[in-house]
Amino acid sequence: MLIDRLDQYFLREERDRPRDYFYVSEVGKCPRQIYYAVRGFPRPPLDGLTARKLAVGDDAHRRLVQALYGMGIVVAAEVPIPPGNLFHGRCDVIVSLDGKNYVVEIKTAHPYTFEQMASGPRRDHYLQLQLYLHYFGIPQGIVLAENKATQELREFVVPYDKAEVGRVLGQFERLRELIFIRGELPPLPGSEEKRDWEFDQCRYCPYVPFCSENVAALDRTAPEPAPAERVPRETLFDLD
Ligand code: SF4
Repeated sequence: MLIDRLDQYFLREERDRPRDYFYVSEVGKCPRQIYYAVRGFPRPPLDGLTARKLAVGDDAHRRLVQALYGMGIVVAAEVPIPPGNLFHGRCDVIVSLDGKNYVVEIKTAHPYTFEQMASGPRRDHYLQLQLYLHYFGIPQGIVLAENKATQELREFVVPYDKAEVGRVLGQFERLRELIFIRGELPPLPGSEEKRDWEFDQCRYCPYVPFCSENVAALDRTAPEPAPAERVPRETLFDLD
């Protein structure tokens, strides 16, 4: 009666607009996926189940930030990176504890991923936080993770890592040159690059039909290749 209707209600089209910058959330992503996203290649619609899972993550963010406000320790929330930089993004919240400011990056994690975070934050979460520390000039931050199934929390206090930030900025400067200046499709990632991936991104990639044919530009006069079907039960978002 209702489930199909709710799935239809939550289903939404996802079309990236072409842009000339990167999002902080793209750190750790396949360079080819980034290419297709910044060039506005079409993606399959977000199915109702995945959209509802994302909404649960958004609710957790709101709940935790609200609690931090209630504790009276919030300095600022949803702070954007200053314009004109290579990256765009908004940090979740900045808190003040014992006279020090901390950028807090809130993540909700699938129970499996949460267990993998027993001794440290996920690498892409760590690097995203590092970029905020860099752009805001704050020397420390916290990755705060919530288990999506149990609401258990884990936190990792990390200092600014200048060397890693330099490496990431260098990597994305080269990607900027390749994509925005030379207009080239990045090469297929090899086993070396994939070793850094947190999961098999190809398995959940919405751009397989383009990537497998090495498509670098959209032919607006030709019919679009059928977008890969999104896997409703286990998606990229499950692994966040
Ligand atoms: S299919 Fe794999 S290599 Fe190709 S864009 Fe997607 S993630 Fe990257």
